[in-house]
Amino acid sequence: MKRYALISDVHSNFVALEAVLRQIDGEGVDTIICAGDIVGYNSQPNEVVDELRRRAIQCIMGNHDEAVIQPMQERTMNSLAAFAVRWTKRHLTGENTRFLSSLKQTLTFDGFAVFHGSPFDPYEYIYEDQVDERLALASNCRYTVLGHTHVPFVRRFSGATVINPGSVGQPRDGDARASYAIVEGDRIDIRRVPYDIESIVRLNVSEGLPTALSERLRWGV
Ligand code: ZN
Repeated sequence: MKRYALISDVHSNFVALEAVLRQIDGEGVDTIICAGDIVGYNSQPNEVVDELRRRAIQCIMGNHDEAVIQPMQERTMNSLAAFAVRWTKRHLTGENTRFLSSLKQTLTFDGFAVFHGSPFDPYEYIYEDQVDERLALASNCRYTVLGHTHVPFVRRFSGATVINPGSVGQPRDGDARASYAIVEGDRIDIRRVPYDIESIVRLNVSEGLPTALSERLRWGV
């Protein structure tokens, strides 16, 4: 049976991504899927995009990725997020910008349907208590993968499961450790990985990103 790792909301935090990939590499995973928001908030966009491309990880586009290539999207964001988007635009290489432009908002393969927000709206926030059977069955796939909220959950219905693997680069459920999920048939596990938070905080501060963005990493909020 094939093993899949689900990651999401890496948000230019390569320190966290490296820690997660190191653990995934030890778990005999066949395919890694990323549910969007590759960049934004933190200061390592090229390191993150290079690694996802090098490993040919299956990615979709999140709202922060879109904001880098589509100015209208930036206007929907709060000032801290928009600041980080503008910083990202200035630092991302042309090749990596083109990679973000090439991403689709949905991906369907191997029984997985992947959306950043939901099957109904690419950028709506779906928390665990909002998941219902209609959403779970919307894509006709065994697994529906969501990101965007940075809060992990698994909700099972008969014949369909909805999974949010949580966020690699900016967890928001009060647990500062990076989050991802492993899927193998009916077995679905959310995993947490400690990483060197102070190291990405130092990089963010030295690049002039707002300190509030680093502070939240320490608390996982
Ligand atoms: Zn996000």
